[in-house]
Amino acid sequence: MTDATPLKLFNSLTRQLEEFQPVHPGEARVYSCGPTVYNYQHIGNMRAYVFADTLGRVLQWKGYKLTHVINITDVGHLTSDADEGEDKMEKMAAKAGKSAWDIAKFYQEDFERDLARLNVQQKAHPRATEYVEAMIAWGTKIADKHCYELDSGLYFDVSTVADYGRLARAVTEDGEGRIDTVEGKRNAADFAIWRKTPAGETRQMEWDSPWGKGAPGWHLECSVMGEALLGFPFDIHTGGIDHREIHHPNEIAQNQAYCCTNGLDRAENSGARIWMHNNFLVERSGKMSKSAGEFLRLQLLVDKGYHPLAYRLMCLQAHYRSELEFSWEGLGAALTRLKRMVMAIEKIRSRIDKSNPSPDGWWQNWIDALDIELSDDLATVGALLHLEELIGPKWNNPVDVLRMVEEFDKVLGLDLLDLTRADLRIRPKDAQITEREIEAALDRRKEARAAKDFATSDAIRDELAAQGVEVMDGDPLGWEWRLSL
Ligand code: AMP
Ligand code: ZN
Repeated sequence: MTDATPLKLFNSLTRQLEEFQPVHPGEARVYSCGPTVYNYQHIGNMRAYVFADTLGRVLQWKGYKLTHVINITDVGHLTSDADEGEDKMEKMAAKAGKSAWDIAKFYQEDFERDLARLNVQQKAHPRATEYVEAMIAWGTKIADKHCYELDSGLYFDVSTVADYGRLARAVTEDGEGRIDTVEGKRNAADFAIWRKTPAGETRQMEWDSPWGKGAPGWHLECSVMGEALLGFPFDIHTGGIDHREIHHPNEIAQNQAYCCTNGLDRAENSGARIWMHNNFLVERSGKMSKSAGEFLRLQLLVDKGYHPLAYRLMCLQAHYRSELEFSWEGLGAALTRLKRMVMAIEKIRSRIDKSNPSPDGWWQNWIDALDIELSDDLATVGALLHLEELIGPKWNNPVDVLRMVEEFDKVLGLDLLDLTRADLRIRPKDAQITEREIEAALDRRKEARAAKDFATSDAIRDELAAQGVEVMDGDPLGWEWRLSL
């Protein structure tokens, strides 16, 4: 742990690197917009949480006491972020013939499984439906000065706060791609604080309110949960870069209204001092879209045989602010890199009885090197390069090298000291042969070769090949075999 180098983070609000100055000394309070649990998360969504987790780990590593919230949106998110379309939860519930509550529970559990597989540390996930009363109280407080009522709900008038949309830097409303389909809205960017249940209809998720039966608007949820759990202003608010355009400007406008602050010249007037956004994971064939049938979920990667932490490494290999293109080749390369790290660490462990004392300043130099990278807007790309230098063959103090790997892994979260080569074997779910069968066949082949029975040895290799197993004699990295996909 160190705080020697000041932590600089890119604040989307100012579009600048800024030094992190905690609101409460020694503490860091972070809110990350969580998933809408109407479906599985795709690996692009999971990139947002790997980023949020890395931020949290860095803050902790630098000595701050971290409070980190990733919420669960289980009500209110419409099919378009700009308040049009149907409620995602109700739509899925109708399609699946289940209750919206069951749908939310099922997909929240799936999401939490994926978080655990990616070593995301943050474990408490407050649900929007638990805060509806607080949302109604918030709406009541701001209604007179900032809202107006239509038949369809209570709407926020964005012209009532200063600097609306500064976060998005939108030049025109058209630029934000908004279509004004709600009749009576004063400004195209106005958004729902409360959506009334249409007369004669009943929704599965609805509550009484001063504006009639209905459900809260999606943007309101995050404002309310952020304030309730972290207090205003808190330190950092995160989300994917799409949220920089609509969701977060709307949260900020609500926060301004609620806190009776005006312009955004002071960062804390927005509710959080720093707003951070991860760029997108992109994929060419459109498999990331949840409407495209089988889409790219972490489970699909696991089914194809990839260890989930290979995906975490893939994310860390790119800066969080750059776009990252997903490809199976790229994932394979990340897996190989992780495997090589793990093999290097195994080698270091085998030399542990020959450990020498570290040279003077050795420990501090590594800590400083890591600190400089992480303090530069979470430069995990550089941190990984230092790690590879650390586990290279150069050092004759294996005990300290392993302790330093542990230190690096506190922020990288790659289980570097626990993973084994075998854990990282590609294991497709539909492989026709088990690892035990492969190992047994290879033992028989070894015996045949020792007896110079090359016909049997070749026959065993061919049998394995027919079942998708490539025998890798003489592989420079010492990999005995692999299952092809
Ligand atoms: P949603 O469930 O749609 O609210 O998205 C959950 C989180 O994932 C949000 O922070 C989004 O901004 C983020 N996100 C969505 N798509 C991607 C993507 N392709 N790459 C990275 N982050 C994404
Ligand atoms: Zn949010």
